Amino acid sequence: MTSDVAVVAEALQGLPGQSSAAVLEAYSGAVMNTFGLPKRVFVRGEGCYVWDADGRRYLDLLSGIAVNALGHAHPTVLSAVTGQIATLGHVSNFFATPAQVALAQRLGAMTGAEQARVFFTNSGTEANEAAFKLTRMTGRTRIISTEGAFHGRSMGALAITHNPRYRAPFEPLPGDVTFVPYGDPEALAAVVDDTVAAVVLEPMQGENGVVVPPPGYLARARQICDASGALLWMDEVQTGMGRSGCWLVHVDEGVTADIVTLAKGLGNGFPIGACIATGRAAGMLGPGSHGSTFGGNPVAAVAGLAVIGVIERDGLLEHATAMGQHLADAILALGHPLVSGVRGRGLLRGVTLTAPIGPAVSDAALAAGFIVNAPRPDVLRLAPPLIITAPQLDTLVAALPGLLDTAAKEQS
Ligand SMILES: *Cc1c(COP(=O)(O)O)cnc(C)c1O
Repeated sequence: MTSDVAVVAEALQGLPGQSSAAVLEAYSGAVMNTFGLPKRVFVRGEGCYVWDADGRRYLDLLSGIAVNALGHAHPTVLSAVTGQIATLGHVSNFFATPAQVALAQRLGAMTGAEQARVFFTNSGTEANEAAFKLTRMTGRTRIISTEGAFHGRSMGALAITHNPRYRAPFEPLPGDVTFVPYGDPEALAAVVDDTVAAVVLEPMQGENGVVVPPPGYLARARQICDASGALLWMDEVQTGMGRSGCWLVHVDEGVTADIVTLAKGLGNGFPIGACIATGRAAGMLGPGSHGSTFGGNPVAAVAGLAVIGVIERDGLLEHATAMGQHLADAILALGHPLVSGVRGRGLLRGVTLTAPIGPAVSDAALAAGFIVNAPRPDVLRLAPPLIITAPQLDTLVAALPGLLDTAAKEQS
């Protein structure tokens, strides 16, 4: 009989033992081409490093897109997840588990609201989809979103996502959505009236290149919503869970939202998302109005509890704030002519460039053993694990001038 280990090993058809080139050749025929051909095949990770199929090591400054807050193979996540899956892996939402309830309590408390209830999902898109449905319970249908916003790719999440390239092939999209310029409270005030169900905002626009709104923008959005009875929906999928040096950026700025959506950093790579509703919104989705087979399953829930527990135990909010400042200061101190600034908070940072060489810098970085990305051509995004150290960040800073110069030369 085939051994337990061999069952999976045989299914992998020897791919793990092969070179990156061999795996990528098989990739094209087997996986849908929604991302273009990947640039590397990774087989192992530990702390802030990952290794590719050819044995090369990379410093991970992207964390699987702001996901692996505790880095790779974190022992606390490992023991929580393996312990839970060995005990009880899944029961569906016909039944409750202690882990799910404990995580809901922790997340609800983060909102700063007196009353909060959580709907668990498996991704950020689904968290926003749940929120979208919740807004319909107001009896209003209109939603205000912002230019540059990214909220996911399902039909509902896409309807509030701005990028015309993502939207156009799939129109008509659901809902009655109006986009206003991001960071402009007067533009918001001009459109929010008593027909508006909700205003959806990212506290910083991660996918748009870590765009930071002017101070007071979120507080002003809260006032505007209060004046018209609209719900304020904060999408903290990318910014939340410690990424920005605090649990939730809007709460850190003294704002209470009616709806908060979370995902990315919540499970350190284990798929989990959450739609949290507070106050009058907390009771809006009732029996039969929404559901999920997997959402909030106990394995994902303990991953979330492990992440929260380690961030607290190890002081990682303060550490992320300090490391983010160190990184920004060190990059600015280079005085490189291709860098015009560093924006963002904590360890969600956008390095703005004076030329559209971001993708070429990202390629040069990969060749030199660093994972970064360019969410737009003139911005590099850095979102390393929250456990990263100053000496690790300094290796990127030391390499950056060479990477920028290489990219600029290639593009000219
Ligand atoms: C990534 C992201 C999403 C979508 O999350 P998925 O887990 O990819 O579905 C939604 N909103 C924001 C702000 C994001 O950054």
